[in-house]
Amino acid sequence: MTTEEMLHIDRQHLWHPYTSTIDPLPVYPVRRAEGVRIYLEDGRELIDGMSSWWAAIHGYNHPRLNAAAELQLSRMSHVMFGGLTHSPAVELAELLLGILPAGLDTIFYADSGSVAVEVAMKMALQYHQARGCQGRTRFATIRSGYHGDTWHAMSVCDPTTGMHGIFSGALPIQHFLPQPTSRFHGEWMADDMEPLRHLLDTRGDELAALILEPIVQGAGGMYFYHPQYLVEARRLCSQAGVLLIFDEIATGFGRTGKLFAQAHADVVPDIMCIGKALTGGYMTLSATITHRAMADTICSGEAGCFMHGPTFMGNPLACAVAAESIHLLLESPWQERVNRIESQLREELAPAVTLSGVADVRVLGAIGVIEMKRPVPMATLQRRFVEAGIWIRPFGRLCYLQPPFIIESADLSRLTGGLLRILAEECP
Ligand code: PMP
Repeated sequence: MTTEEMLHIDRQHLWHPYTSTIDPLPVYPVRRAEGVRIYLEDGRELIDGMSSWWAAIHGYNHPRLNAAAELQLSRMSHVMFGGLTHSPAVELAELLLGILPAGLDTIFYADSGSVAVEVAMKMALQYHQARGCQGRTRFATIRSGYHGDTWHAMSVCDPTTGMHGIFSGALPIQHFLPQPTSRFHGEWMADDMEPLRHLLDTRGDELAALILEPIVQGAGGMYFYHPQYLVEARRLCSQAGVLLIFDEIATGFGRTGKLFAQAHADVVPDIMCIGKALTGGYMTLSATITHRAMADTICSGEAGCFMHGPTFMGNPLACAVAAESIHLLLESPWQERVNRIESQLREELAPAVTLSGVADVRVLGAIGVIEMKRPVPMATLQRRFVEAGIWIRPFGRLCYLQPPFIIESADLSRLTGGLLRILAEECP
């Protein structure tokens, strides 16, 4: 098939994420990817600034992850998890237990980030039901959050920036608290807790859980807030009998400079979701983790078990790659690498504040964000980035970099340099 034929069929028959079929943005055919490079069918080569949406932390086509997949493939790619188990699932569990926050020891494997969030919300509901608190059916969250594209995950996404406003009439109504104004690197302002305190005082007994992306809000705004918010939220939720769910799907596995973002505040949630970089970006796998006592309470309820069980639960291929990815991460100087990326991003993105179109520049761990005053011309920017040999995918008013941890300093400079130059030219 020629590239033209491929693009024709793609355009006629394939949907891309958040893309119109009537007026689609161009897509760039990829032949292969290796390390931090994405090679296009037309021979061009791009430096990856996205890690394929927080996932490919070790870069692409990694020999050790390939070997883990091939070895597992030679044994079995999948068997059902109902009534069967296997070493990839168990070995991955053991590895996770070694790095997860203390006490989070009971793991439910799921298919994707969104499903992990659904599972977390169902766990919270079943937990309260089992304890005879039938009225605790609502969830609270903060504005500008994003938790996925499935039904209840959508209901806790920011109604405006979280991309699902169009469904708001049909979704369950949840409680949205203001985004904390205290920023990660700024001063703590205790008033940030007032809305949560008020909600818990007035409607606390309707709430099953508070769900948050700890420290870094991703697709809902790429915003970094103060760790003290998590400390206070933990205390208030415990007092009110409301569970705390951390969605670490984007932040997990070192991206923010800690293995999990909860470590910035040393706060342990009741339920935690992980995904994305869990498999080093190789394939979809997620997990929802809770405490054994909570799991046992859930299973002591009317249903007698947790009511969820996907076909591809604990997929051996995905678990084997995930286990190898965690070995790779822990054996690597990941913290040093993320710190180095952080310093370089801070230094090289700083000049963007002088551009008149720029509203804010912020960096945390291996995440660099340039927030513009107005939405950016996506198609033009994307084309210019590709012409410059860099892969950056902006959305709304946000241009951001989150490269694989293995990126070399010269490649990172090409990303930051290209981004700044093209923003200056296209978004003056
Ligand atoms: N939660 C967060 C914080 C996310 O960033 C995402 C994905 N962008 C999800 C949940 C949903 O994950 P998935 O796309 O794998 O369903």
